[in-house]
Amino acid sequence: MKMSKSSRRYRAAAISDIGALGCCEQVLMSRVRLLMLCLFAVLTIAMILGFYLANDTIDSNIQVYVADLTRDKLYHKPGKPTAAQIRRLVSQVNQGRLLYSHLRRILVERLPGSKGSERVRKHILSQLSSLSAGWSLDVDSFTSPTPHGQTRFSNILAVLDPDIPRRLLLACHYDSKALPAAPGGPRKVFLGASDSAIPCAMILELVTALDVHLRMMKDQRSQVTLQLVFFDGEEAFEEWTPTDSLYGSRHLAELMSQTPHPPGSPHTTLLQAVDLLVLLDLIGAPDPVFVNHFDSTARWFDRLVLAEKKLHNLGLLSSHPVEQSYFRKDAHPAPVEDDHTPFLQRGVPVLHMIATPFPSFWHTLEDTEQKMNAATVENLTKILVVFLAEYLRL
Ligand SMILES: [Zn+2]
Repeated sequence: MKMSKSSRRYRAAAISDIGALGCCEQVLMSRVRLLMLCLFAVLTIAMILGFYLANDTIDSNIQVYVADLTRDKLYHKPGKPTAAQIRRLVSQVNQGRLLYSHLRRILVERLPGSKGSERVRKHILSQLSSLSAGWSLDVDSFTSPTPHGQTRFSNILAVLDPDIPRRLLLACHYDSKALPAAPGGPRKVFLGASDSAIPCAMILELVTALDVHLRMMKDQRSQVTLQLVFFDGEEAFEEWTPTDSLYGSRHLAELMSQTPHPPGSPHTTLLQAVDLLVLLDLIGAPDPVFVNHFDSTARWFDRLVLAEKKLHNLGLLSSHPVEQSYFRKDAHPAPVEDDHTPFLQRGVPVLHMIATPFPSFWHTLEDTEQKMNAATVENLTKILVVFLAEYLRL
């Protein structure tokens, strides 16, 4: 009995224990359910938050990317080539090639739409095609009314890698001016050596001298690439007016402002992809002076000042007795309209490398090769080699 009692008690106890355990189990189960619910809720919130954050990240990426085009150019840091690297880079500049191979074939009359213009265009395109860097070439042709009737213009465009987000633009104009003949006098053939055959030849020499470095830069797919523009129709046919001048640059600035970049971008255009437009004009005469025209690009003008000083001190400039003779911070600019104007009006940063005051033979038949100074042209090309090597981190 005892046994049974005890066994019953035990059993009772056991049963009641089991009953008690069942109760706890129910509480536990509901706690587990609660926990599971909480976990589920937390997971759901995490997932919603995750989606939200992911979308937000994509949005921020787009915003950051859009800002990159406009902001990165402001914070772009130039490279710092060593003296040995500078020596090596500028030793690639070949004065003979610049003056005889590039320049001679540009120094012909090259009125927009003429045979001479077409020959010069072919020369520029064939020189660029011969380089190993692999330039993407394009001719932006259009027709516009002028005081001399409907005229065909053709800007020459060359870009190292069209897919790269940002571009440094290096430009000049290749058309020559139609000088009016004196009444009853012969037609005047204006060659425009400094205006702007020499700047075009300098650009060809720059990319020829830096060909291997530009190819290596292209392979590295950096954030900035180089674009060349040879504008047509910079000169007025008659008097300079807003409609009779800058035919090519007005057309290209408008075209670039309507071209999405990167392709398909709803936010940004090719114009916003331009870090800086470096425009060369009226170069070739001895003792030119270049001044800074825009506060917003003063730090890039300063690079030219320092490049001249550096090359002088390394003994790499010829017929250059004074440390600072070309790029002067002490001289003040007069406003100059040129191919940069349509870009400047649309907010593109500009570095205008134009001799001021203009050469004495400006827009006269005297603007010929005989008036040019080979040492000056070579020195300025070397200064631009340093500028490009720094900007593009070659
Ligand atoms: Zn001119």
